[in-house]
Amino acid sequence: MDTIKKKDIRALTKEQLREFFVANGDKAFRGNQVYEWLWQKGAHSFEEMTNVSKETRDMLENNFVINHIKVDVMQRSNDGTIKNAVRLHDDLVVESVLIPTKTRSTACVSSQVGCSLDCKFCATSRLKRMRNLNPDEIYDQVVAIDNESRLYFNRPLSNIVFMGMGEPLMNYNNVLKAIDKITSPEGLGMSPKRIVVSTSGVPKMIRKMADDEVKFKLAVSLHSAIDEIRTSIMPFNANFTLTDLRQSLQYWYAKTKSRITYEYVIWKGINDSQKDVDALVDFCKFAPSKVNLIEYNPIDDGEFQQASNAAIDMYVNTLEQHNIAVTVRRSRGKDIDAACGQLANKA
Ligand code: SAH
Repeated sequence: MDTIKKKDIRALTKEQLREFFVANGDKAFRGNQVYEWLWQKGAHSFEEMTNVSKETRDMLENNFVINHIKVDVMQRSNDGTIKNAVRLHDDLVVESVLIPTKTRSTACVSSQVGCSLDCKFCATSRLKRMRNLNPDEIYDQVVAIDNESRLYFNRPLSNIVFMGMGEPLMNYNNVLKAIDKITSPEGLGMSPKRIVVSTSGVPKMIRKMADDEVKFKLAVSLHSAIDEIRTSIMPFNANFTLTDLRQSLQYWYAKTKSRITYEYVIWKGINDSQKDVDALVDFCKFAPSKVNLIEYNPIDDGEFQQASNAAIDMYVNTLEQHNIAVTVRRSRGKDIDAACGQLANKA
């Protein structure tokens, strides 16, 4: 029976949904009602749409599907972090994480199934990129975490970081559509200032974001400000050099006036010397920025090791001497493989 491929109803804009109803002899207003069920009320089925007649619901059922995600497995870390293994309609799986602190609940969401980049220190890079996530699949991850935050921490989600699986700027249009829904009063109504898109640094797309005058924040996974070293740990850097990246970031700042965060892990023998931090200081001078020193989360093979505390202190001191804001970020959820770079569908 199910031979006609039904369309994902959440791929339609509100206007398209209104037009659909008019074309089917109903009122445009019906589109608004259904849209509200889909986005604001998070309906998983047409059955739930109780202010819509049975006849209309059957008609929708015959034409569309709601490809809602399903949280397959939820794991809780002993530090409170929650990791969801999320099953998509085609049975692929991605992961998202809820990171609670005293005052915040942050959702870390995925933008792709797997990743096409090849960062040597990241577990996700070992899964090949299967496909991009659709806007509704990104949105659903956020809603699931918002619900968990309310349930377990008695408060709504406060922040979102695109630091899960995938490279968000390689799925730019869908990420943007998802953020539109997340920030829209017809969706979750969150402030874009509480959303961070983290990228390994795709210069062309950083320029595009600047041109689009996006209102969310930008983080760049820098890890080294020396081309040769960065290319050895993030091989795609050979195509998008640091000069390109720097120029795109200057363009970003000129257009948005929004400070850039650099994410940076210090590894023993790779980027833990004075010349590495000097290069970082130079890089930071091009546009107002701050540095987040992230703790390394080992991904098995021991090729990469967290640098010594002395090396971390050297970075902090040097950056502070140059008036560059720096924070040292501790990992969360390591015991359940939920920390940065550990998302590899292992649960
Ligand atoms: N592709 C995007 C977002 C996903 S990675 C990006 O590169 O920014 C999210 C963050 O985790 C990045 O800063 C990334 O460099 C960092 N990361 C990856 N593997 C890690 C690991 N094993 N330990 C600590 N951080 C890691």
